Amino acid sequence: MAVHSGDPLPYLYSRVNSERQTLMTGSIEIGGEALPAAETGAATERPARQAMLRGWRRRCPACGEGALFSGYLKVNDRCPVCGEDLSHHRADDGPAYLTILIVGHILGPLMIVVFTEFRPDPWVLAAIFSVGCVALSLFLLPRLKGGLIGLQWAKRMHGFGGEE
Ligand SMILES: [Zn+2]
Repeated sequence: MAVHSGDPLPYLYSRVNSERQTLMTGSIEIGGEALPAAETGAATERPARQAMLRGWRRRCPACGEGALFSGYLKVNDRCPVCGEDLSHHRADDGPAYLTILIVGHILGPLMIVVFTEFRPDPWVLAAIFSVGCVALSLFLLPRLKGGLIGLQWAKRMHGFGGEE
């Protein structure tokens, strides 16, 4: 306990202010009404790894239950299970870029290995790798898009934090 000489009022004011700061950081009050953490998005923890894995499984990054996509790549505006607003995503060209990057780095060297080891007929090689390339791309594209949206959601990018 510090000894205070002179006017005690400034000291008391500073104490009251520090108490008020402590109380205010506990929850966000808007118009005197405290919003739940899910709506403010301030207090909830969003593990990026879990959100990305949920996105990879084409599930909502928030609950892991609702479908992320309504079509092959069309993202639901809202999660059908938890109602999380998913319209903020900005995956854009990212999933296509990642798909080309991964498929190219797998099939490019593999094509050289297969050709030098087995010397197949060039048309057979071309047919197998064309089908493999398309199949692998179609498999990866929605999963990488889901993972990217999961990352954006976890990092509260593009309005996912609810701040707009
Ligand atoms: Zn959900």
